[in-house]
Amino acid sequence: MARTYSGIRETRPYTYNDLGGGSVPISEDFEKQCLKLADRSFSQGLQCQQINSISALVSLEESVFVIHSPQGCSGCVTGAADGYRVGQAHRGVKLIKSPRVIISNLDQNDIIMGGEAKLREAVALAEKRYAPKMIFIFTSCASGIIGDDVDAIAADIQPGVNAKLVPIHCDGFKSKVCASGFDAAFIAIQKYLLPQEPQPREKGLVNLFAPTSISYKDQREIERMLGLLEVKVNYIPFYSSYEKIQKITTAEASTSICKVFADEFMKELDETYGIPYAHTVMPIGVRNTDKWFLGIAELIGKGDLARGYIEKEHARVLPQLEGIKKRLQGKRVFICGGTGRSFAAAALIDDFGMELVGLETPTYDLDAQIDVEYLNGIHKNYVIDVANMQPFEQVNLVNKLKPDLFIGVPTWSARFGIPTTHVLDPKRATMGYDGILYLGNKIADQIEHPGFNRKLAPYARLPYKKSWYEKDAFQFIKEVK
Ligand code: SF4
Repeated sequence: MARTYSGIRETRPYTYNDLGGGSVPISEDFEKQCLKLADRSFSQGLQCQQINSISALVSLEESVFVIHSPQGCSGCVTGAADGYRVGQAHRGVKLIKSPRVIISNLDQNDIIMGGEAKLREAVALAEKRYAPKMIFIFTSCASGIIGDDVDAIAADIQPGVNAKLVPIHCDGFKSKVCASGFDAAFIAIQKYLLPQEPQPREKGLVNLFAPTSISYKDQREIERMLGLLEVKVNYIPFYSSYEKIQKITTAEASTSICKVFADEFMKELDETYGIPYAHTVMPIGVRNTDKWFLGIAELIGKGDLARGYIEKEHARVLPQLEGIKKRLQGKRVFICGGTGRSFAAAALIDDFGMELVGLETPTYDLDAQIDVEYLNGIHKNYVIDVANMQPFEQVNLVNKLKPDLFIGVPTWSARFGIPTTHVLDPKRATMGYDGILYLGNKIADQIEHPGFNRKLAPYARLPYKKSWYEKDAFQFIKEVK
């Protein structure tokens, strides 16, 4: 990957981060290659790619994470650490650990004089205190701007430490697409941890790439489904280890639970090591679960086995879905989520007979176009907001569209009194056929019992002037000339 792909998602063809409008004109313009590049003349804070790099790896065993940055960059680590701690509890770990994080703490002097000394000190401390197998070094805007040559420093330190040093280039300013942080982590894994030559294959071994947001319930369900295909799963990199990473190149095939996680890495594994991969969708909802399962099954020549299982699962689940449909039919939904989840959730609401009125997603690209074309066949011209965060646009749209339900992080929409729920649930079931039933009941329960949000609304304030709600939500998106 290091040779062919920079890790910056914006460098992939037809990738848009700043876009808004109706789903039909957007997909038509994209199809005709008439979508113009744009930028926001006013923008709120984005999710930075550094946290995606950190959270993708934070549960790796025998690792220390050195963040080469000022202290503030590590603020989001608490969220990743919480996920790791809860994940351990779900996995039955009795002595729950926190991730081992050391921040080099760049300050004004280092910005002028260079941060090399502090990075060396942080790595030495990591080695002395924890004796890990791997030390990951995450770059930041500050280290990137001052030009610290982290690879050269790591190469110079490496002979003196036992741990493998793995610099990850995730300077926040380099990309507006937070998923670039996943790519940066995998580029580093390939460069610093994988054997460079093809390895002997282990029969029946399949790499299953999964981001941190996958719950233990979902992990078990997906592993169970793959077990039906008589394969062994190498689950990477969540709750993984140095040994499991080394096995990546011995697998017979790869797949990912998320459409935007490890997709570039799987391509690289295919090109460099001849490991084929299935890149389909996130297995949320009936259609997506079928598609995801068949994708990997057909790749390893077990399509018939998968079709038999899918038929049985449809016979079991579809009648139960009818009951949920009666509770949700015709309800209007606004969905906000990461690229993989938001599109998977949008397809899912078709299972429940709901109507999509708005979709917020961080990136629009060739993959998104496939999903939007499919969704346009089911739903009328719904609004698409391509935004990494930007809650000011979201509240404007939610206020205008007045959906019956908001699916996504509920911080803002709950204040309108609208029932809210989410599909980004690292603690409960979401995926596979049982996940559909769990989600359907969760969504219906929220709509039928909106009490908390209704009571919250009269007392909660949103930090925008009333006039903003009458304006065009996309007025700050300007075409780049
Ligand atoms: S790396 Fe840059 S964008 Fe990310 S938290 Fe640090 S300063 Fe902010």
